[in-house]
Amino acid sequence: MRISIVGTGYVGLVSGICLSFQGHDVICVDKKAEIVNEINNSISPIYEPKLDDMLNQVISEKKLYACTDINWAIENTDVTIVAVGTPFKNNAIDLTYIKECAREIGTALAEKTSYHTVCIKSTVVPGTTDTIVREIIEEASHKQVGSFGLAMNPEFLREGCAVDDFMMPDRIVIGAYDDLSFDSIAAIYRGVFDAPVIKTNLRTAEMIKYTSNSFLANLISFSNDISNICESIGGIDAIDVFDGLIMDKRIVVKNDDKQLYPGLVQYLKPGCGFGGSCFPKDVKALLTHAKANTYDAVSLEAVLAINELQPLKMVEKLESLIGDLLGKKIAVLGIAFKAETDDIRESPAIKIIHILLDKGALVTACDPEALRNAEKELKNDRFSLKENYVETLRDAEGALLVTAWESYKCIQPIEFRNLMKNAVLIDGRRVFDKNAMESAGVKYTGIGLK
Ligand code: NAD
Repeated sequence: MRISIVGTGYVGLVSGICLSFQGHDVICVDKKAEIVNEINNSISPIYEPKLDDMLNQVISEKKLYACTDINWAIENTDVTIVAVGTPFKNNAIDLTYIKECAREIGTALAEKTSYHTVCIKSTVVPGTTDTIVREIIEEASHKQVGSFGLAMNPEFLREGCAVDDFMMPDRIVIGAYDDLSFDSIAAIYRGVFDAPVIKTNLRTAEMIKYTSNSFLANLISFSNDISNICESIGGIDAIDVFDGLIMDKRIVVKNDDKQLYPGLVQYLKPGCGFGGSCFPKDVKALLTHAKANTYDAVSLEAVLAINELQPLKMVEKLESLIGDLLGKKIAVLGIAFKAETDDIRESPAIKIIHILLDKGALVTACDPEALRNAEKELKNDRFSLKENYVETLRDAEGALLVTAWESYKCIQPIEFRNLMKNAVLIDGRRVFDKNAMESAGVKYTGIGLK
């Protein structure tokens, strides 16, 4: 099929590369000419495992082409997927990019005679596609929906394993205005991606995406709430509590002598909070949207309130071990919101670094992939980025592990002791062994431990 994708960020680019890799002819459109040039030169503007090689292949096979001209892209394709950003701004979802894009698509459709389907992949609050998007396209194209197709196909990929998630989806949700719209989106996936297809209406598709993210964010905040209770009581390691919880036969599945745990179990763990470009903004957007529809979603409010406090707990733990932070050199391991991505949007590390700087600390930080993004975001005379963990830890009086990169999980206790001026480690992801750290002379604590 001939597919255009508007917005070539994490979702648009991964979708474009994977769809062209599976044989479709894809035109990626972005407003930013530098991104477009990079893509056409086989340079991925984002870090994502496996993406570079696949991009190289689809560019050399001429299955993917990037441009800034949306009219040309629409003229030369049959389906347009919208993957522009939907940030949270001024206490609501910001639909500026969606509206702009819908207007541009409508204008292009006015000139087009053949049937074309517009599919929203961006995460938008329920009701957006069948009201705002539809109305703008109808007005700009002077056509009624039905003469063009309209669908909503939410994306569930996780940064860090986006290619695998896209290529092997759990489910494909297609909300459609009518059967023709549904068929044209289902055709993209048919015979290529082996997953159940959920056929539904536009609003339900939008709501499934918000429910998924809210559910996962809820699990993380629930885990952190339980961890905080354990800490306040004392003498309980929250990890032991979750290990006990997951033995429940409604969670674990026993298969012969094997015990199989669902993937959700990885969210039942103490940590320094969720971040990224999705969970925080999507939970806030759903909460606000519920309020606008006269419902107070108290559970979502609690999810956000707990998450807001977790980064601060890291700093409190550090202060409890080394006292006032003024003038002290503190090392932060990891800046990306999670391992295997360069995305630092809403990362707990960014919040932690700001709190440390506000308290007068001298902060060094490292990240295997996020230095380029961190450089733009973090500017302070008392802050410096380092190429590796050795330089970051050198002479530090306290260290905080914030992002669980494999290369940081492998740091030996003795390295903390030898590199640091004062070997104190706060583990925000509970990846290290307390006994091994203490045996090596490292003062160690972590979230969910007291
Ligand atoms: P992003 O910010 O990385 O990329 C958006 C891109 O759209 C930018 O490159 C921007 O230049 C471009 N753009 C904006 N308006 C444009 C226009 N009118 N024409 C052409 N290009 C335009 O965003 P993202 O992280 O890829 O997220 C996109 C959407 O997908 C969001 O709604 C997000 O919530 C959703 N989503 C994201 C993820 C994720 O892991 N990042 C996962 C699932 C869903």
